[in-house]
Amino acid sequence: MTELTVVHGGTVVTETGEQPLDIVIEDGVIGALMHDASAIEGHRIDARGCTVLPGGVDIHTHLREPSAIDREGFHTGTASAVAGGITTVGEMPQAQPLVRDLESFAIKHELAEAHSICDFALYAAAVGQDRDELIALYDAGVTAMKAYMCESSPGYPRLDDPGMVACMEVLAEIDLPLIVHAENDDLLSAGLARMAAAGRRDPLAHAESRPPLVEVEAIARAVRFAAHTGARLHVAHVSTPEGAEIVKTAAATGVRVTCETCPQYLLMDHSDLNRLGTWARCAPSIRAREDVERLWDYVLDGTIASVGSDHSPYTVAEKEAGLEDIFKAPLGLNVIQVMLPAVRDEAVNRRGMSMSQFARLSATNPSEIVGLRPRKGAIAIDADADLAVWDLDAEWTVTREQLFTKHPWTPLEGTRIRGKVRTTIRRGEVVYDDGAVLGQPGSGAFLIGRQGAAATHA
Ligand SMILES: [Zn+2]
Repeated sequence: MTELTVVHGGTVVTETGEQPLDIVIEDGVIGALMHDASAIEGHRIDARGCTVLPGGVDIHTHLREPSAIDREGFHTGTASAVAGGITTVGEMPQAQPLVRDLESFAIKHELAEAHSICDFALYAAAVGQDRDELIALYDAGVTAMKAYMCESSPGYPRLDDPGMVACMEVLAEIDLPLIVHAENDDLLSAGLARMAAAGRRDPLAHAESRPPLVEVEAIARAVRFAAHTGARLHVAHVSTPEGAEIVKTAAATGVRVTCETCPQYLLMDHSDLNRLGTWARCAPSIRAREDVERLWDYVLDGTIASVGSDHSPYTVAEKEAGLEDIFKAPLGLNVIQVMLPAVRDEAVNRRGMSMSQFARLSATNPSEIVGLRPRKGAIAIDADADLAVWDLDAEWTVTREQLFTKHPWTPLEGTRIRGKVRTTIRRGEVVYDDGAVLGQPGSGAFLIGRQGAAATHA
């Protein structure tokens, strides 16, 4: 029997703009968008006075299962996500065993199936697999490969230049994107050695150990390889305007490259790194104010296609190890729940971004990048009914008590924000409402990318 739900009375942000619409949901899918659905019987969700955005699609998360379940997990991480208006996550292969073959993929898949509230896509680590191994991962439903260009994450070997070209040649053939962490390995090692030799342990030494050049050079090189191989490249967590400019120029000449940035590179600068120290240590580093301002230009002009959280939490004790020595602070932040409200407030309320562009930045584009369109990423007929109902006038301050993550710290604590997610709906089901997470762990669905679309059309 068809189950009908009507989200009524809200201003709806569709792909063509904002207008007052009722959304009719049939069995978890958007069945109709109409000006007045009052004649339709069904469960009703009142969105009067609110704005309805597509559920956020965060294609850059580290939810830490299996090995680092003490830091986070699919349950707590996605509870935090839905409380921040996110309904789909893309999970990086980081935790051990590193997702690199069918066996490790199956372990990750089973844990996500068991615990995730969000729908989820999974990636595998590009660490030098051969063609058959890459195709096997693709067939298993991996929606992207992820490569580190530097040694930065324990247990995750970097991919060297020949390895990256070889990987991209196969990925071009099967049209699977490569997501890269772009930092130059040699320059980074030299920077860390330089800070050690100088006896530096202060927060800004972290930024000085990996200055913009470290990222910019690696982006240029990865883009060159994408141009050479024809592969799709997505540059994760771009923190420099120069890096974004390289992507913009290459994309204009037909190179298949997109890029992302994260809230930490848009909302924080060196003064925050200096103030927060270990609580703001991440890679790439948070940048100088002048870089932050210029990075925004590339967000507003659409060069930076997506915003991702790079949510990678640690326990308080692990982070406290960096209080006296910034280089003892593990690299990673806890931002998934606050990301969309904080970025939207700055982008729309202070920098003039339209709500439609915010929908593209936070949902439509990231879905496209990892092959989840048209099922995910927009409020449109036949798409999954993934919706976030926002009260755009609500003013609030970020506190630890609001967070559903396993270790409730965030560098954005204390931030004053206008605009709050009131209700989050995933495939028609209310998974978050007014401060309470209602979605059950294990209710999230596994998403495959274009493989699925190709199979359907075969
Ligand atoms: Zn990451």
